[in-house]
Amino acid sequence: MSLKNFRICTFASSALLAMSLMPTLAIADDEHAPIGEKVNELPIFDAHIHYKEPAWEKYSVKNIIELMDSSGVAMGLVSSTPDEGTIMLWEYAPNRIVPELRPYHKDAGSSNWTKTENMEAYLAERLEKYPHKGIGEFHIHNLDTSDEPLFRKVIEMAKTRDISLHVHSGPEPIRWLYSLDADVKIIWAHAGLGEPAAEVYALMKEFQGLYADTSLRESAILGSGDGIDPDWKKIIFEFQDRLMVGSDTWVNGQWDSYSSIIASNRLWLSKLPREVAEKIAYKNAARLFKQKISMEQIGTR
Ligand SMILES: [Zn+2]
Repeated sequence: MSLKNFRICTFASSALLAMSLMPTLAIADDEHAPIGEKVNELPIFDAHIHYKEPAWEKYSVKNIIELMDSSGVAMGLVSSTPDEGTIMLWEYAPNRIVPELRPYHKDAGSSNWTKTENMEAYLAERLEKYPHKGIGEFHIHNLDTSDEPLFRKVIEMAKTRDISLHVHSGPEPIRWLYSLDADVKIIWAHAGLGEPAAEVYALMKEFQGLYADTSLRESAILGSGDGIDPDWKKIIFEFQDRLMVGSDTWVNGQWDSYSSIIASNRLWLSKLPREVAEKIAYKNAARLFKQKISMEQIGTR
């Protein structure tokens, strides 16, 4: 799909955006003014995509890339249950997909993957075969320190390849992972999801290398007023070099609403100065994953 089509598809959401931005756009036009409607010109890196088995029939790999095209999503970090979903997408559109290895497959899921027999061998084999740029997204629902030997191996695999762990957990498991290895690269999925803004701020402050994706956080960030929630605004400005947006297509309903999810991410980005919006939209991801990200990728694969 061409850029022209992307513009047509986003016309409705742009019009809505323009309406909600009128008061802020009127105030100033210096470099700190919100980027406003021009946010629609920025490529998005979607740092939290899943292409799980139940999606494969309803959404072909072609459909997924077309959805990314029509939302101006130039690239995305994809992990899937099972990993075959990620590889299918990446093989179809290597110019658009950054693959990430999710441990879940067969009977291994979010609550038992660390106890699954041969997990280490499974991960090692997949990493050997495909160029994953991360290990995750995986969950640590309840920290069990007897899993330390496996996590030490996972950290070693990530560090050998200079790739990140993508972790869905509260703050405690993140602190524990850093206690095992202070230099491990971690992306905190959903910035913790259940954590209040104060906890997110504290953890991001404590670990200066910690990245986070803000998927499923759009309404918390937008808050109840016209701007951005004040506590989130503090997080966004202080940690602007370590945040990325995401959709979290964990169920088909998320794919059904993909364009509006990306539009609500653009809505909060539109309230930021261009420099900050660009970092969170795609530049942080470009640096972290060593990728060139631009609107020129739209319509390609
Ligand atoms: Zn997820």
